[in-house]
Amino acid sequence: MPMTDLPSAVTNERTEQTNTTNEQQESKGFDYLIVGAGFAGSVLAERLASSGQRVLIVDRRPHIGGNAYDCYDDAGVLIHPYGPHIFHTNSKDVFEYLSRFTEWRPYQHRVLASVDGQLLPIPINLDTVNRLYGLNLTSFQVEEFFASVAEKVEQVRTSEDVVVSKVGRDLYNKFFRGYTRKQWGLDPSELDASVTARVPTRTNRDNRYFADTYQAMPLHGYTRMFQNMLSSPNIKVMLNTDYREIADFIPFQHMIYTGPVDAFFDFCYGKLPYRSLEFRHETHDTEQLLPTGTVNYPNDYAYTRVSEFKHITGQRHHQTSVVYEYPRAEGDPYYPVPRPENAELYKKYEALADAAQDVTFVGRLATYRYYNMDQVVAQALATFRRLQGQPEQGNAE
Ligand SMILES: Cc1cc2nc3c(=O)[nH]c(=O)nc-3n(C[C@H](O)[C@H](O)[C@H](O)COP(=O)(O)OP(=O)(O)OC[C@H]3O[C@@H](n4cnc5c(N)ncnc54)[C@H](O)[C@@H]3O)c2cc1C
Repeated sequence: MPMTDLPSAVTNERTEQTNTTNEQQESKGFDYLIVGAGFAGSVLAERLASSGQRVLIVDRRPHIGGNAYDCYDDAGVLIHPYGPHIFHTNSKDVFEYLSRFTEWRPYQHRVLASVDGQLLPIPINLDTVNRLYGLNLTSFQVEEFFASVAEKVEQVRTSEDVVVSKVGRDLYNKFFRGYTRKQWGLDPSELDASVTARVPTRTNRDNRYFADTYQAMPLHGYTRMFQNMLSSPNIKVMLNTDYREIADFIPFQHMIYTGPVDAFFDFCYGKLPYRSLEFRHETHDTEQLLPTGTVNYPNDYAYTRVSEFKHITGQRHHQTSVVYEYPRAEGDPYYPVPRPENAELYKKYEALADAAQDVTFVGRLATYRYYNMDQVVAQALATFRRLQGQPEQGNAE
């Protein structure tokens, strides 16, 4: 995988000067060992370092940024190797905090779904319904249309219930059922309501994928933003390193763990189910391939969606790079599978995590939650405040 040039402070290359500092630090030990250099780990490293704590942050991958890492591919196009990451939040605090480390490029993501031979806006809006059915409804009439096709569901429990009770069976079958089955390997009737509750339906012509107050991309990319977060002399970054390789040799006071919680406890209650993805990256000899940042394929092909990075990053280039996402049962853990039995299993791990006084569990994998980037930042900032007030505190929220 191609990588951007990282300054020596954020690689495990050593200069003479950093050597001395590091040796001094290692002989005295670190206040914190942070496992994982994604959003959760990097926000905590930055906060702790700026309050005077000495931090060692390790990641087993060869780069910082976790799943949000970006880099230039062989053609020189800025890509997101782990799939398109679009920043959006309603939290002023989170946006202002990250603004210390990056400038922004305003960007509102738009997604089209390929259905019945047309590319139609998703989330479903007035234009989606009019174009799909060849109608000319107004906002008021489309509300009546949804009411007329919606199915009565006594108790909304599953993802299927959520959608059919809002927009009826036909739109459910065309836009949601196939996509969900591909994405999760399960029928929507087998998944928690929370999965499709995230997808709104609109009666106006708003075709933005997100409706959040702040929608923007880091002007020079995520990796540059992470480099700025981790630039303090109080932070040492070690890449290509599993924490288990070093935890017994490098003294530290407290661990912050942002990896999978079941792996931390050696899968003692069994594996927590995750959904994974395989990414197929392609570069094309054309300036633009897709009409929008992402096109979804709910019903055709083995992939769920294809995204074109230049829409998202605003980069100008004579070529363009896209990524196809193929859902997989095995591979890197990406999406916790939201089913009641998995929540039960997680509760057992959570009890172990709560009891671990010397370790704090933060982030999407360590708390087995489907969190967006802004939610992970908010969780990490809250954890920092808690650590400052109550150093003995164990688990995050
Ligand atoms: C395909 C995809 C698209 C997404 N798109 C968006 C989006 O558009 N907008 C949005 O807001 N969010 C998006 N997200 C969610 C976003 O990626 C996460 O919210 C965020 O990256 C979570 O940060 P984290 O620090 O909790 O975890 P991660 O980024 O996963 O970081 C955890 C790190 O811990 C490291 N690690 C684990 N175990 C060990 C170990 N034993 N030793 C050392 N290191 C270890 C891992 O290598 C990893 O780098 C998307 C996620 C995926 C999978």
